[in-house]
Amino acid sequence: MREDGKYAFFKNQIENWWKTNKRIFPWRKRQSAWNLLVTAILLRKTNADKVARHYNQILGKLNSPISTYNLKLSKIEDALKPLGLHKSRARQLKEASKIILEKYGGKIPDKLEELLKIPGVGMYTASVILGMAYGKNIPIVDINVVRVMSRFFGLSKLTLEKASEMLMKMVGKDDATKISLAIIDFSAKICKARKPKCENCPLTSRCKFSSATKNF
Ligand code: SF4
Repeated sequence: MREDGKYAFFKNQIENWWKTNKRIFPWRKRQSAWNLLVTAILLRKTNADKVARHYNQILGKLNSPISTYNLKLSKIEDALKPLGLHKSRARQLKEASKIILEKYGGKIPDKLEELLKIPGVGMYTASVILGMAYGKNIPIVDINVVRVMSRFFGLSKLTLEKASEMLMKMVGKDDATKISLAIIDFSAKICKARKPKCENCPLTSRCKFSSATKNF
């Protein structure tokens, strides 16, 4: 199958699957850029369902750069304790709030190069903020998105950058943020890191990984 045909198949199948399998999280509703920055830090190394259970309580205390900056570090740590990693997360949020207040007047910037200068903000978090808070057409790619794409397309050395490029090519004028969220949900429910559910997967007929493992 030609590359364009395979891209279209992948995109259509994932979008159809997502219509009835979308995960519902509080941060998927319209959120401020700050809330999304905090959320991205909370989701690192922590299960999304666990973050969702504590989301309102934590965001109630850390609801803006100024309120976070004004709290003592120990109070930020207390707020984050239910999720663990609270010392490093608290330090990152304290430093991020300081830079946002001092350099950007309390408003999270909407430019990639400026976002990447904020402590704790890498490419993934910056993409979440640009795509979900500022409505920019940008892919959100993490290791889970790379896993699904590398298995399906048979690209064992796929990088985050290359996966982003492929997604932009795949969506054309459509929404790259939306398809990214769909793939993230798909990676959590179907194409899991361990034991992917190939037998229930809408991509299985054309998936390189699935056809390779069927031969064993
Ligand atoms: S067929 Fe299996 S490996 Fe391929 S995308 Fe689906 S779940 Fe992942």
